[in-house]
Amino acid sequence: MSVNFIALAYLVAAVFFILSLKGLSSPTAARRGNLLGMLGMGIAVSTTLTITGNWVLILSCIAVGAIIGSIVAQRIQMTAMPELIAFMHSLVGLAAVFIAIAAVNNPVSFGLPEILPAGNKLELFLGTFIGAMTWSGSVIAFLKLSGRMSGAPITFSGQHMVNLLLAIVMVGFGLWFFFSETTNWTAFSTMTAIAFLLGFLIIIPIGGADMPVVISMLNSYSGWAAAGIGFSLGNPMLIIAGSLVGSSGAILSYIMCKAMNRPFLSVILGGFGSDGGSQGASDGAQKTYRSGSADDAAFLLGNSDSVIIIPGYGLAVARAQHAVKELALALHKKGINIRFAIHPVAGRMPGHMNVLLAEAEIPYEMVQEMEEINSDFPNTDVVLVLGANDVVNPAANIPGSPIYGMPILEAYKARTVMVVKRSMAAGYAGLDNDLFYMDKTMMVFGDAKKVVEDMVKAL
Ligand code: NDP
Repeated sequence: MSVNFIALAYLVAAVFFILSLKGLSSPTAARRGNLLGMLGMGIAVSTTLTITGNWVLILSCIAVGAIIGSIVAQRIQMTAMPELIAFMHSLVGLAAVFIAIAAVNNPVSFGLPEILPAGNKLELFLGTFIGAMTWSGSVIAFLKLSGRMSGAPITFSGQHMVNLLLAIVMVGFGLWFFFSETTNWTAFSTMTAIAFLLGFLIIIPIGGADMPVVISMLNSYSGWAAAGIGFSLGNPMLIIAGSLVGSSGAILSYIMCKAMNRPFLSVILGGFGSDGGSQGASDGAQKTYRSGSADDAAFLLGNSDSVIIIPGYGLAVARAQHAVKELALALHKKGINIRFAIHPVAGRMPGHMNVLLAEAEIPYEMVQEMEEINSDFPNTDVVLVLGANDVVNPAANIPGSPIYGMPILEAYKARTVMVVKRSMAAGYAGLDNDLFYMDKTMMVFGDAKKVVEDMVKAL
């Protein structure tokens, strides 16, 4: 295949990747976005195949990967998606490290000069240490999210200093590798080993609930690692795909931090949202709240004209999305204006609620984003908060509160509020929620799925 044709095919694949990202930015276009991404990847992989010799080996590897990937993807529960993504990133990081080791070991087979030029050494150094940190960081993220390791931050005194010292030593070995005239395996392997260790150490102090931001950050790292390796291999496709992943991951981390009103550094340095625990859940004052049954709630819902449902993390835990669809359809049949309000960081990963509602095939026209729906709360009869807490906490309007400035769904402005959760426990930010103690609020205690099913029966 001619060089020009390869360049053209890579360009077409890159355009598909960009269109794919665009499609993925809205639930209605997400399927098309996925398809375009797969098409782009198909073009990229087949073009790369034409310039490599060993078809049998490569196709066998692709087949093994594809079989394992399809089985895992089919079995995975929606709530386990973040940990699957963490696992996938760990593989991207490891692949970057393996490619770098192979290129350092035998540069000629990668089309590089036998004595690696400075530029290639730098790219391999960057790709290796970012890849190694991505691998070990993602493994910790996977273990924390899947409950195989405690989600609580693991801290020790002088932790940041130890990390800083290790980073300096790692760069030192990297420089030794860079300035050595022949291949310096001692420097290269020590640098790689420290990078693996650093990945572990940087992620262990971060609380389980902060992991989504970390995952999106690791996603970004894995992209940059791939782009770094792409430079060494002289493969423009890897550079473009890596940069797209790197920059979209970075933008996503930024959006998440902004939606939580938290500085990126405070997430990365850990110590907040340790386990969705209950610190600060009470300010000591005895406050009273009203509670009712699922039947009471169904009665109120059935007698209203407009209802907004606010899903949160508890909905995902309870896997109540299908029951909620039944509820929404039952209310819709009664002629009630029913809508869902989505907060950008409801749940534990961006788009978490959109994914759950889409899984239950809740019509898109019923689903509205925070900016679209916030002004409608004062004219709404009933707001049903299902397993959400922080995203409806009016403490976000109080200066000095840890979530001050975080945009919230203004449920407290509705005529009646009903909150379904299991107890008065705090949400992810560990804060008490004044919404639960308002005169117009009724708490309905229980598992979200069970309560919603009871509501549907009562309706
Ligand atoms: P929260 O974590 O604030 O609250 C969830 C509530 O669900 C809890 O108060 C809990 O109360 C309740 N709950 C848990 N299990 C069940 C169940 N089985 N049935 C009924 N209720 C249940 O969730 P939100 O969605 O309101 O807010 C998300 C939080 O996560 C925000 O603080 C956000 O900043 C943070 N975050 C989000 C990210 C994202 O990308 N989406 C990324 C990182 C952090 P109880 O125990 O009493 O049942």
